[in-house]
Amino acid sequence: MQTIAVEPPKPGVRLVEMPEPTPGPKEFLLKTLEVGIDGTDLEISRGEYGTPPSGEKYLTLGHEAVARVLEAPSRGNFEPGDLVNPTVRRGCGICMPCKTGQSDFCFTGLFKERGIKGLHGFLSPVFVETGEYLVRVPPDLAEVAVLTEPMSVAVKAVHQVLKIQERMPWREETELEEKSALVAGSGSLGLLATFLLRYLGAQVITMDRSPDDTMRADVIRRIGAHHLNSREVDPLVLAKDFDGFDIILEATGSPHVPFRLASALATNGIMVLLGVPGKAVSVEVDATGIMKDMVLENQVIFGCVNSNADHFREAHGCLRGFLDRYPEEFSAVISHRHPWEEYELAFREDGRDVIKHSLLWEER
Ligand code: BGC
Ligand code: ZN
Repeated sequence: MQTIAVEPPKPGVRLVEMPEPTPGPKEFLLKTLEVGIDGTDLEISRGEYGTPPSGEKYLTLGHEAVARVLEAPSRGNFEPGDLVNPTVRRGCGICMPCKTGQSDFCFTGLFKERGIKGLHGFLSPVFVETGEYLVRVPPDLAEVAVLTEPMSVAVKAVHQVLKIQERMPWREETELEEKSALVAGSGSLGLLATFLLRYLGAQVITMDRSPDDTMRADVIRRIGAHHLNSREVDPLVLAKDFDGFDIILEATGSPHVPFRLASALATNGIMVLLGVPGKAVSVEVDATGIMKDMVLENQVIFGCVNSNADHFREAHGCLRGFLDRYPEEFSAVISHRHPWEEYELAFREDGRDVIKHSLLWEER
């Protein structure tokens, strides 16, 4: 079969002939339906990230998939025809989180990630997987289910923010209403986080380095968030109008961004870092200012990665909620669906009308 692969650390994406997988006794054979392309895929395609399976030269890309069960083991929890989302991480098998389905918190670092680290991804006509790493897609979500994986990462991040903010015991359950949030980056993750934070009632400013007339900026505005072009407006100046932001979500992956934004945090504010930086660059930071604010204003800066099957299930609830509340805007998020043979189009640089690309293995 032909898969869409990279040869790390060489830049470039290409078709590679690989043997078709045969399912083991506990494995499902899955037909790929649709796979989303995100910033991590682009980073890997530039040769800045990503590791092939040990002993192999190529890595099949793709970690945001929706698939249909073709063949099921005799005692499986899914049947042929079922729609599923595969999760990304495969635990180390050693540590407690990995043994309890929470490899997103793996202690050993020996985990693998499909399409990213040590395991082939889903940009292939079929793949195999065991049931513990598959999450059933409710049929009403089929059209948007390709967004489950990035949504689950946003869900985990917001969940962690709320958990950590439980350090302020007087806060109400409806805590996000009245709160201000700055989302840095309008890629898949930034945009889905914008939907989620708006949905939960926060005032949201989403910044990127693009003008106000892109499709992304349009969607951001239409769901009641503000778009900020950081080339024109300094987020630190805007932060003053808000007395700082209660929540900052960093989804650009640029090391220039978070430490500068630290001074835009409100008292008791929290910043979550989600973007994985690529090439090493050194950045000058105001270490004294950051340290002083963090201590004197009880601020938190923390990192958050990946998601587990529970986050995928919660993500399904979000997708349904967004379809219900923002039907047109949410349906616009996959702006470009290409047949898989045209994979190169999904890896080209962003245009003004691009929100997110996906590749299809079946006509819809
Ligand atoms: C994926 C995560 C993964 C992370 C780091 C992200 O793009 O969505 O599942 O853990 O990259 O490799
Ligand atoms: Zn582990």
